[in-house]
Amino acid sequence: MKKICVVGTGYVGLVTAAGLADFGNSVIGVDIDESKIKILQEGGIPIYEPGLLEVVERNVRAGRLSFTTDINEAIQKSEVVFSAVGTPPGEGGEADLRAVWTVATSFAKNLNEYKVFINKSTVPVGTGRKTLELIQEKSGDKDCFDVVSNPEFLREGSAVGDFLNPDRVVVGSRSKKAQTIMRDVYRALIMRGVAYVETNIESAEIIKYASNAFLAVKITFINEIANLCDVVGGDVNEVAKAMGLDGRISPKFLHAGPGFGGSCFPKDTMALVEIFKEHGVKTRVVEATIEANEYQKEGVVNKLRSVMPDLKGKTIAILGLAFKPETDDTRFSPTKVVIPILESEGAKIQAYDPVATEDFKRDFPDLDYKKNAYEAIDGADAVILMTEWNEFRSLDLVRVKKLMKSPIFIDTRNIYDPRMMKKNGFRFVCTGRTKCAY
Ligand code: NAD
Repeated sequence: MKKICVVGTGYVGLVTAAGLADFGNSVIGVDIDESKIKILQEGGIPIYEPGLLEVVERNVRAGRLSFTTDINEAIQKSEVVFSAVGTPPGEGGEADLRAVWTVATSFAKNLNEYKVFINKSTVPVGTGRKTLELIQEKSGDKDCFDVVSNPEFLREGSAVGDFLNPDRVVVGSRSKKAQTIMRDVYRALIMRGVAYVETNIESAEIIKYASNAFLAVKITFINEIANLCDVVGGDVNEVAKAMGLDGRISPKFLHAGPGFGGSCFPKDTMALVEIFKEHGVKTRVVEATIEANEYQKEGVVNKLRSVMPDLKGKTIAILGLAFKPETDDTRFSPTKVVIPILESEGAKIQAYDPVATEDFKRDFPDLDYKKNAYEAIDGADAVILMTEWNEFRSLDLVRVKKLMKSPIFIDTRNIYDPRMMKKNGFRFVCTGRTKCAY
């Protein structure tokens, strides 16, 4: 059992704090956002993440998990300090590390005995070394600490399962002492046989970006194949299925759609390009992926234009604002690209999402938000389905058609069958299967 402090109680930090407590450690979650800590201290959670509340409640009840805004005391009481603060894109696309430096400085100022500083945030290669130098400088050259890179691979929407049962744990450190402590922290997983990879700091930092960029490339590749299918008459689902039967390819991340979004792939691909540039190494693949993904997002409007050339004065129902189902996170959601284009061409939006509306309102406060899918569809000239929430998979299509002014349905996620939609009287456009209906 280790005494741990997790700084940052966002999607990664809160899941990490709750998960590490579930492994039997004693954990303090820290955030500068007082409103988040208040919600946590009152027994709630500040984000939508299935299954997380139960794990938090269980560990708070067991006395293994608590929350505070007092970072100094939390660090002083802990041997292991995780930094899980945000690393959003800076102006040039590079990772903004200001929050990491703030946490490292607090760590240095509270180094009352040996401690390990662990970077759980996604940070560019070289950050571990810089963190070490910064802590040394700010602590007045104390040497009773180590720095570790322990990137996180969880997915929003299934974060609890991903953390408690990961494909692998990656721990980068040159220090034997720190590696031993980290094995203690993750003992529960190691004992269950979870792959536990020990590397140097630089490899661990690169593993995170390389993994995310690779998945972004995979999604983008199948999106381009879908675009080809739409022109020549193939069915991208059949293509992806057969491709995925090849063990070297695997069927995962071969789902065509409106382009990747979220808090990780867009910012991590941009940051990786900047890392390549900084070190004078060429990357054509990652740059092309970012460019193709922008095209894919804008391409959603082209799908609508293909059946409705003039958008002026038209009412468009948008189903889904989150970048994927089971999350309230709308960071870099493709919908944020689609809506401004529609509005700039004179269309009126009626939008609905089961849980992400509040988050979306921060960037789009004046949109006409509806309480359910049917309200959004009521009076619409076209529907664009942007997120494959389960509740959109079984819409009452007779009711949908009756509510609409004209039965135009754009399914960017391929959750409806083109033949069935045509039979139900819709003008139906999807992603890489559109011609299958005709
Ligand atoms: P987030 O924005 O949800 O949470 C970050 C939290 O850190 C916020 O609650 C914020 O208030 C807090 N914070 C910022 N500065 C602080 C400070 N100085 N002291 C204390 N708290 C502070 O971010 P996130 O989505 O949890 O991502 C965190 C990191 O994990 C990022 O580097 C991200 O790339 C990485 N990551 C995210 C995911 C994901 O799915 N969200 C998955 C893997 C890795």
